[in-house]
Amino acid sequence: MKKQRLHIITEVAQRLFFPPVCPSCGRSIGKREIFCPLCSKQLFRVHPGDVCPHCGKTVCACRSLRPLFTRVFPASLYLGSMQPAIQNMKFNHHPGHARILGKLMAQSLAEYQVQADFDMLAAIPMSRKKLRTRGYNQAALLAAAVSRETGIPFVPGALTKIRETASQHELSAQLRQTNLKGSFRADPLVNGKRVLLIDDVLTTGATANQAAEALLLAGAAQVDVLVLSTTSSTTI
Ligand SMILES: [Zn+2]
Ligand SMILES: [Zn+2]
Repeated sequence: MKKQRLHIITEVAQRLFFPPVCPSCGRSIGKREIFCPLCSKQLFRVHPGDVCPHCGKTVCACRSLRPLFTRVFPASLYLGSMQPAIQNMKFNHHPGHARILGKLMAQSLAEYQVQADFDMLAAIPMSRKKLRTRGYNQAALLAAAVSRETGIPFVPGALTKIRETASQHELSAQLRQTNLKGSFRADPLVNGKRVLLIDDVLTTGATANQAAEALLLAGAAQVDVLVLSTTSSTTI
């Protein structure tokens, strides 16, 4: 009860002092909006049937990726207004954008009609060093927002990054898999659970695949992936 009251107070304070802005261009937006009308026109939403349901790509990459997760639900393509929105959230110190962008992810789940398929949410973790530098993990913030919208519990400690790895975007698709091998560990509490894994961008799918492997090794019954965006090629 106390926790709930605190949540309401935080919510009111946030609306008073930080009125919502478009995560892409920073213009003020209405309470129900996610992007401003201009940026909405440059948003490339993904609907069921637009991408391969197993790898989440517009051109199926299942043969090279061999996904360990079952399905991918991308909310959008990594194009147009989604690019600055994600850049702002990750690199320009706008963690608050995750709260708005998480709504888009929740809308996608509703559109796929799969909200009832999951016991818990897990976020792609960051290494401690990276977390110290950035100050927040955007995937965890998105997961918290999706949880708020859908009621699916988010378990922050479900996955841990146990080893520092080279930045994925500097590597080829093949090296991305090797780079991450064994870099995640899942908590035994995922045993028997249907897990929905949350991340911001799905590029080659290598990160999600390694995280799915850790979850499945710890006994997860099934792993699916919900991402804010999927790239139309396998590099950024
Ligand atoms: Zn805008
Ligand atoms: Zn595929």
